[in-house]
Amino acid sequence: MHFLITAGPTREFLDPVRFLSNPSTGRMGVELALAARLCGHRVTLVLGPTPLSPPKGVDCIRVGSAREMSRAVLGRYGASDAVVMAAAVCDYRPARRRAGKMKKRRPEVTLELKRNPDILKYLGKRKGKRVLVGFAAETEGLLRNAEKKLREKNLDMIVANDVTQEGAGFGGKTNIVLILDRDGRVERCPRMTKRALARKLVRCIERIRSRSFPVDK
Ligand code: C5P
Repeated sequence: MHFLITAGPTREFLDPVRFLSNPSTGRMGVELALAARLCGHRVTLVLGPTPLSPPKGVDCIRVGSAREMSRAVLGRYGASDAVVMAAAVCDYRPARRRAGKMKKRRPEVTLELKRNPDILKYLGKRKGKRVLVGFAAETEGLLRNAEKKLREKNLDMIVANDVTQEGAGFGGKTNIVLILDRDGRVERCPRMTKRALARKLVRCIERIRSRSFPVDK
């Protein structure tokens, strides 16, 4: 199979030296790329700004903003069999990016923001035979919000984590997640390393794929 995986945050610049972003390090997506590669799959990793390096044997495309990530993903979507959107894409970007550094003249500044494209939702409308997997980082209503995203984005599977819980979410080496699939199954996973979770998710994706296409490996 050919895996297309996104990882890391995006950066949305408001002037040449300042940006909006989030604390994602991209570790979950990098571990997924490694796990898929070790299982013998072809892997394309679209990686946002992070100090982490892509695993060996993985085709890596570095991107900055959500719109750059969107272009990179759409350009490789046609050749993919499974897409895992592990990136923490910024939902908004500054409505305009200033050419020069913003000066601190005024005591208060209002920043106007514009919605970024929802990459995964767009992919869900053009799913074809692919396995589509999303992540949901939530601070409340974990199960309810994850179910809603699974349905609205037309996913096969969603991995949900409560980012307020110790040992889960951004940056760390472990995660505590719920795995939901489109048949209504919910698996509650105990705290585990992102490496172990990545191996588990790759196996789930292989199973979904072989259920849909039993003779196609
Ligand atoms: O931000 P949200 O909770 O909707 O993210 C759920 C999933 O959608 C994640 O897998 C994320 O990578 C993806 N997403 C995206 N484009 C966005 C926002 C989120 O592909 N603009």
